Amino acid sequence: MSEVSVTKESEGPQPPAGDLVVLSDVNKHFGALHVLQDIDLTIARGEVVVVIGPSGSGKSTLCRTINRLETIDSGSITIDGKPLPQEGKELARLRADVGMVFQSFNLFSHKTVLENVVLGQVKVRRTDKKTAEANARSLLDRVGVGAQADKYPAQLSGGQQQRVAIARALAMDPKVMLFDEPTSALDPEMINEVLEVMQQLARDGMTMVVVTHEMGFARSAANRVVFMADGKIVEEAAPEEFFNNPRSDRAKDFLSKIL
Ligand code: ADP
Ligand code: MG
Repeated sequence: MSEVSVTKESEGPQPPAGDLVVLSDVNKHFGALHVLQDIDLTIARGEVVVVIGPSGSGKSTLCRTINRLETIDSGSITIDGKPLPQEGKELARLRADVGMVFQSFNLFSHKTVLENVVLGQVKVRRTDKKTAEANARSLLDRVGVGAQADKYPAQLSGGQQQRVAIARALAMDPKVMLFDEPTSALDPEMINEVLEVMQQLARDGMTMVVVTHEMGFARSAANRVVFMADGKIVEEAAPEEFFNNPRSDRAKDFLSKIL
């Protein structure tokens, strides 16, 4: 477990007020397993929510429902006031609006780094190729891998690949970014370079949902910590409050094991 030492900055562009992602009474089962139970979660524009909890508590499933990689059994999810589309072009657009970065980097291995970041812009956003390339180069610079643009993913380190994956999601100009344990597959020395990119993104006002075991990141970047156990949101609070004064036995027990 590594700690990021970054200072919190309250200055910077202030996001427009309002709720961006709203989950109301969401339930989901996998067969007999009630994996999401009565989930109510509202994420404001510009807010950074860190989701933590034991393995198997439903964190990944929660993320995956927000961009409809998983359907829900009941309840509702809206983004920017609109329910999630069911299929087709609308669904592709939703997936672009809701950028997702996984533990495994999921880059297209037979395409260069630049092509990875250009592709979705051209296919989904209908951006012309020149503009998409310029945009891609600028994003790759922003995440610190501009010099790798013409290489293939396998030629990059894990930390570099994950930063490309972040640039690729950002290229779609998403409304919200979901990160599901983005540093869990990385060698320890590469964790901070990815967390720093995420930290900068948070400072720039991006709305983010981050599942992570990096408590240093949670303390310094999160506006709110959501603690899940057994498919439920057990507790949510500002990071200082949560880490210094957890209320539930489940959270106390979890923190005693990881801190
Ligand atoms: P977390 O990310 O908190 O570790 P997950 O959301 O991945 O938890 O999983 C929650 C529970 O749902 C686990 O018990 C897991 O085994 C189960 N699960 C996840 N995905 C599926 C699936 N596609 N089919 C059946 N069970 C699943
Ligand atoms: Mg998970």
